[in-house]
Order: sequence, then C-alpha cells, then structure tokens
Amino acid sequence: MEKFRQDIVWQQEYQKQKAAFQKYVQKTASLKNPDCSNGPVILPVAIHYQGVDVSEANIGCLETLAANQIDILNEDYSATNTDISEWAAVADSFPNTVLGNPCIEFCLATYNHPTGTGIAEGDLAITYNEVTDTFFRADWAGYINLVVVKDYENLGLSFVAGDFSGTTTIINACAFGSDDVPSCLSDAGATTIGPGGGCFTDGIYNKGRTATHEVGHYLGLFHVFCDEVDNQPDCTCDDSVFEAPFNITDTPTSSEAHGGCPDLGPTTTSCGSQDLFMNFMDYVNDECMYMFTSDQSTVMNSWAQFNTFTTDLPVPCEQICPQRCLGVQITR
Ligand SMILES: [Zn+2]
Repeated sequence: MEKFRQDIVWQQEYQKQKAAFQKYVQKTASLKNPDCSNGPVILPVAIHYQGVDVSEANIGCLETLAANQIDILNEDYSATNTDISEWAAVADSFPNTVLGNPCIEFCLATYNHPTGTGIAEGDLAITYNEVTDTFFRADWAGYINLVVVKDYENLGLSFVAGDFSGTTTIINACAFGSDDVPSCLSDAGATTIGPGGGCFTDGIYNKGRTATHEVGHYLGLFHVFCDEVDNQPDCTCDDSVFEAPFNITDTPTSSEAHGGCPDLGPTTTSCGSQDLFMNFMDYVNDECMYMFTSDQSTVMNSWAQFNTFTTDLPVPCEQICPQRCLGVQITR
C-alpha cells in the first residue's frame, strides 16, 4: 500500500471567499490567462517555526532551509522547475491540458515588519516558537504565512482560497524545504509521518513540494481528484474554488488520488480518462509532481491580484521586499 500524501483542507472560508471573488471577476475577466509580460505577481512571505531548537547554530540552519523553500516555491510558481521538462513525454496523454505558468513570485520579507514582532529592519520575516494559534497570525495579515510545525499530525493544512487576513498555511516540519540542504528539523531515524509526528526518511516528501501544494490551496485550487464537496472523490466536480470564467477546464476529471510515483495507464485512469497525477495538486511523491495547468495558473494569479498583490513593486512589496527577494540574502 503506497503512502498517500495526507493533508487537510480548511474550507470554512470557502463560500465567503468564492462569493467575493465571483463578484470581482465579473468586472475583470481580462485577468484570464496570467500575463507575465510585466513580471510576476509578488507575494510577501513570513515563516513561523514551531517546536524548533533556537540555538544560534540551528537558527542559521533554519534560515537556510527557509530560503531553500522559497526558492522551490519560486521555481514551481514560475514553471522554471527543472523537472517540468518531464511533461513533454506525457503531454500526448492529456489532449485538453495546457501546461501553465502561475507567474507568481514569493519573497521572504525583510523590511517593514508588522508592529510588535520585534524583528529588526533588514532581518528575515521568520519567527521561532511563538505561535499560539496555528491557524491565524493576525499580526501578519497581508502575508503568505507558512507555519512550520514539528511533530504535526498531518502533512499540511491550508484554507482554500485564503484571504490574507493572517490565516495560515501549515507545513509539517518533516516536509519543509528540500533534502538538498542540511536538515535542522528532521527527527533522525524516524521513518513515518502521522499521528504523533515523526519524519519520513524514505524520500517521499523531500523536495519542498508540500508547500507548493498547500499554497496552491491557499490560492484557490482544490485537488485534481475532485474531493471538495465531501472529501470523497467523484467525477462530478471542478477543481477550482471559483466558477466560470475561473473554473478549471484543462484538468481531466478524476476520482482517484494517487501516491508514490505511478505510471500512465489503467491504474491511473478514472472517469474515462488518464488522471493528471503529476500535477502539484495530486498526492504523488515530491519527485513525481512537477506542473500546474494554465487554468490552475489563472485561478491562482487572479486570486492574488484580487487580494491587491501586483506585478509592480510599490504596493505592497516595495516596502517589504525591496530586492523582490530574488536570491534571499542570509546574513547570519
Ligand atoms: Zn491538498
């Protein structure tokens, strides 16, 4: 039995956000298809580590890991991840699917931190062991808040179409960042993740794609296997939070979540078509997911713009990420 990626999607905000967005997009249908000609939409990020060793040496390691995770997000959300090249070999199996580029950039904020955080100008927006509510960081409204929790019982959790009010995206510490950098979070010798925590050491969630997946939820995507109504996959629903013109028509209907690193063919076919298991919004191993579709990209890019994030620097990122956080500078 393959180990499935397990996450929990928080849908509490779903209807409220959906209604607001539908009203908005009726006036802005031109947002359809992300236009990268003016550069990506920039989202400031704050990272909140919980349950971690805060010795001086380990904080340096945690900063490196944070930068690594931001790099992974930026590759996956600009379609510049190296493994996206694998799409060419399977594209013929998906005649209605268009490879996408969300055109979104994540910056680990360095300036103008919220009042009261105690973080100095120029220092990274990272907090340590100060989370009292893993679901809300109201003081960090306006950011993508990644709460990285050690010994968390799930792999991840996110609001679906998060509202940037301080709602968070939770990532299990075991799955944060890539094992390409030294880990300062994993429990040595642990082999499982689940109730009570613990980390895989078998290379399943080791490429930072849990954050890619969970942030996809935060920006308006459901799973490609269509389980948003009752957590039971079927062949009837769309994998966008939103309705036309921001529905998702270029992912095949699927009723099966997939784990491991499956192959094309009967075992990955449902609802009469090949399942798009290599999509970031399925449950396969990190090394076997590598793409968003064009319609998924439209939904996420538009949701970010609806929440006032822009391709221009002045609002709000100029003050928060003056270097646009391309290549986060680690200073300690
Ligand atoms: Zn999910």
